[in-house]
Amino acid sequence: MKKRLFTPGPTPIPETIMLKMAEPIVHHRNPEFNEILTRVNQNLKYLFQTEQPVLTLTCSGTGGVESTFVSLFSPGDKIIASNGGKFGERWVKMPKVFGLNVVEIKVEWGKAPTEEQILTALKANPDTKAVYLTHSETSTGAATDVKTLSKLIRENSNALICVDGITAVGAHEMRFDEWGIDVCVTGSQKGLMIPPGLAFVALSKRAIEAIETSKLPRFYLDLKKALKSYADNDTPWTPAISLIIGVDLALQKIREEGIENVWARHKRLANAIRAGVVGAGLKLFSEFPSFAVTPVWVPEGVEWKQFNKILKGKYGITIAGGQDDFTGKIFRISHLGYYDELDMITMIGALEMTLKECGHKFEIGSGVTATLNALTAK
Ligand SMILES: *Cc1c(COP(=O)(O)O)cnc(C)c1O
Repeated sequence: MKKRLFTPGPTPIPETIMLKMAEPIVHHRNPEFNEILTRVNQNLKYLFQTEQPVLTLTCSGTGGVESTFVSLFSPGDKIIASNGGKFGERWVKMPKVFGLNVVEIKVEWGKAPTEEQILTALKANPDTKAVYLTHSETSTGAATDVKTLSKLIRENSNALICVDGITAVGAHEMRFDEWGIDVCVTGSQKGLMIPPGLAFVALSKRAIEAIETSKLPRFYLDLKKALKSYADNDTPWTPAISLIIGVDLALQKIREEGIENVWARHKRLANAIRAGVVGAGLKLFSEFPSFAVTPVWVPEGVEWKQFNKILKGKYGITIAGGQDDFTGKIFRISHLGYYDELDMITMIGALEMTLKECGHKFEIGSGVTATLNALTAK
């Protein structure tokens, strides 16, 4: 049985990249590796659509976001954090640990923060140093309109605009410079199609200035040290060499396809999955759907555990379950990274066969037909 991964991190890895990463390791302080890191640094700028530095850190995405809290701020600094799911919640909890003063914007799961919510929080807190937004909230599949909100924040404050782009970069349009974003973080095991272990942090001029005056203690995740090494296409510590070799290839693939085409493919595949799910008589969970992941309500009469067991045991497909209050109530299908149209048909086909076995009443083939229609619509 073939194993197929449809989770929003880790995501599938292209064979050519796996083979490349399996080659004998090279040393990181030699010209050969410096050449690779130089190219990675260039291509990361393309990925984020920026002329600014994008740092590569050896840690998961969470470490990337932590590096921004500890490197940009000082004890007592006020930040606004939007919380509409597991990851938004993390960006409320984490800065508190470091003694930052956090104003939380509570967003209902499946929804995104509104302009009004952001504006109200900014007006009530004129001393805000930064606003943290989650571009694609992976736990709920809700996308935040970062472009519109960034403009709003810029027009109404001096706060830095910090974006968790961990499942958005590569799936959703991201124009770091044009949109006036100050910080954007992503991770290697999401849209970048390689294993977990690297985080990427884009920094605006304003963000780099903030690093100069920040007083929070830090060592490993010090972005000042990372920036100093970055100037020589180097890293302060031993990086995850094999992963950087992998991401070099992944970024070249993205460049070849073209970033706009990569975004468009994610949108097309997301629409195809959604059509299939609805076609099979299921309901979507999120009102503002992300192009990276589609959360779906487990239909009435179907038991999540049994459903998941069949999908995995009989068809080799791994999807993600719901989290917190939505455990057993929703499931999440990812289409982030290395996927094509036929993968979507496979996924919906397996979903239908599994639903039928679980006793869900619908016309078999209606989901796949809807997916095929979505993929072939002009
Ligand atoms: C996966 C994810 C994270 C956490 O990244 P790790 O690599 O697991 O540390 C943060 N935010 C979002 C939106 C994610 O999808």
